[in-house]
Amino acid sequence: MRRLFYKGILADTIEIGGPDAHHLMHVMRAKPGQKVIVVDDENQVARMEMVAFSAEKVTLQLKERLEANTESPIELALGICLLKADKMDFVVQKAVELGGNRIVPIFSHNCVVRYDDKKAKQRRDRWQKIADEAAKQCGRTALVEVLPIETMKKFLEHAPYEDDMDTEFLFCYENEDKLSLKESLRRTTSKRYLLLVGPEGGFTLEEAEAIVAAGGQSVTLGPRILRAETAAVAGLSIVQYEKGDLGS
Ligand code: SAH
Repeated sequence: MRRLFYKGILADTIEIGGPDAHHLMHVMRAKPGQKVIVVDDENQVARMEMVAFSAEKVTLQLKERLEANTESPIELALGICLLKADKMDFVVQKAVELGGNRIVPIFSHNCVVRYDDKKAKQRRDRWQKIADEAAKQCGRTALVEVLPIETMKKFLEHAPYEDDMDTEFLFCYENEDKLSLKESLRRTTSKRYLLLVGPEGGFTLEEAEAIVAAGGQSVTLGPRILRAETAAVAGLSIVQYEKGDLGS
């Protein structure tokens, strides 16, 4: 059943407008009586019936509230250095499926792609759309925010979570050969994780030092050099498996 994210709080009757209404009416050609799953701003979920259509709005009536929280017990953010367009699209989609809560695209020294302001905004809008679509497709009960692209310097100046007191900042580093991600996760009971993955060209030595100075713990994902998109998927999976709900 199609899933919608409603900007508001569930009620007996709600109205949906914008692109979701357009999609229901003109793409799905929905008819009165058909049902959708609606998730609200408080992660509440309900089965609702489409009862009326106007030029721009669909009216929905609540049929049944569902106990369907699919969010992980941990908060997981991904800092991903810019990759070529199709790889980035892939990482965004997979990060949502794997229960990430926030994605921060980062421009670092060895990034091959470069965007001017206009293009950067277009890219971010595109990633946000991919994230929203993935959230609907995989049955998330919360949307995932894609932040605007920022430089590595700016990223390191602020934590991706406002109060970063107990955020475990893990930095996947291709030159780390001692501490594994697995071992570093065994040492913590944190409920918040930030995973940082480099671009195709890897991190410079200066960046690696700056990341460690900013509180990042460098970890290895194993003896093989993974492509950045593989590293992102593997890293998120490992954190979610060890500390969250993947495989449960
Ligand atoms: N060009 C670099 C490799 C970059 S791999 C080189 O040849 O050394 C792209 C990113 O994936 C890295 O910056 C890192 O974040 C991650 N990565 C890949 N393999 C990894 C590994 N074995 N351990 C930790 N991180 C890894």
